[in-house]
Amino acid sequence: MHIVLISTPIGFLGSGKGGGVELTLNSLVSGLLSLGHSVEVIAPKNSKLSKSNEKAKLHFVEGEDQISWQHQNYNSPVSIPDNSLLVGMLEKGLDIAKKADVLLNMSYDWLPIWMTSNVKIPITHLISMGSESSVITNLISKVYVTHPYNFAFHSKIQADDYPFIKKPIIIGNGFQLDNYTFQESGNGPLAWVGRVAPEKGLEDAVYVANKLGEKLNVWGFIEDEAYALKIEQSFPKGTIDWMGFLSTDELQKKLGKCRVLLNTPKWNEAYGNVIVEALACGVPVIAYKRGGPSEIIQHGETGYLVDPDDKKNLLSYVEIIEKIKRKNCREWVEQNASTDIFADKVVNWLNKVINVYK
Ligand code: UDP
Repeated sequence: MHIVLISTPIGFLGSGKGGGVELTLNSLVSGLLSLGHSVEVIAPKNSKLSKSNEKAKLHFVEGEDQISWQHQNYNSPVSIPDNSLLVGMLEKGLDIAKKADVLLNMSYDWLPIWMTSNVKIPITHLISMGSESSVITNLISKVYVTHPYNFAFHSKIQADDYPFIKKPIIIGNGFQLDNYTFQESGNGPLAWVGRVAPEKGLEDAVYVANKLGEKLNVWGFIEDEAYALKIEQSFPKGTIDWMGFLSTDELQKKLGKCRVLLNTPKWNEAYGNVIVEALACGVPVIAYKRGGPSEIIQHGETGYLVDPDDKKNLLSYVEIIEKIKRKNCREWVEQNASTDIFADKVVNWLNKVINVYK
């Protein structure tokens, strides 16, 4: 298959601004290449693919980023800036896709979804978030009627945000296992990883660290500086150890030394890449039972699931985290979330779509 991927119109690949989509895109390219498919990627200028993905052709586009939908009101209208990066990527993608089998859009935005029923090329959408915008959700419901196979989701719980999707195509996610080293020892610090933004609920993890009189190691791109500052000022100085945004290799080396990852989403997390990355290093995860984490974590086996926003329960599970065998964590990833497993699911999905267009 010849597949053209459209990246997120928020930040270049490697910037951290695009959140989990950046890693997902790399995992997908890697899985598709290893299955023998031909892949072209349309991405913002300065984007980098991981070294093992050099066989994929990367096309750069310059322009203005979109505003992330989770930071707008649910009923906000669509806005497209002058010299739009999204428009530029779609123009290039459509041109290249004339010679390809399918276009796979990884941006969460209105325009590519609208195009689905208005161009002849098969455009598929890997939806990366829950319902964060009425105008996008309403458009998906309309396009779904005539193009039911063109949408796929990371988790069942994410797809539930779109109740009109009767039989959602669920493809999970995939991780390049060679990039993560299993670490046996579980005596390290508490970890939290993610974009630092309100929907990620960092404050609840800091609460736990503070109660235990420990530091919380925080890795990730600080998207909302005012939010980060507010949390920092709400707890004793030094409770948060800001570790910055690291490459996957640097991150996994340090994360793998941690005793547990706390994952505290305040929104319907579509998947939660950081959970699987921690598990791949052997680090158990305690997360709120909200969105993707509830389908990833095996309660009592690879970590614990806690009722949403129940900080006290979060704390009580940290106190018994040594009951989780770190080997179980790594094994779950190997058996359920490798790039090969992921790419297989994606290929099955894309074949379904292509057959409709024949
Ligand atoms: N991440 C990273 N370096 C860091 C911290 C985070 O590369 O220091 C990446 C991580 O690998 C993950 C992404 O940031 O892929 C966060 O994705 P997630 O799915 O957890 O949440 P999202 O930001 O998409 O809501």
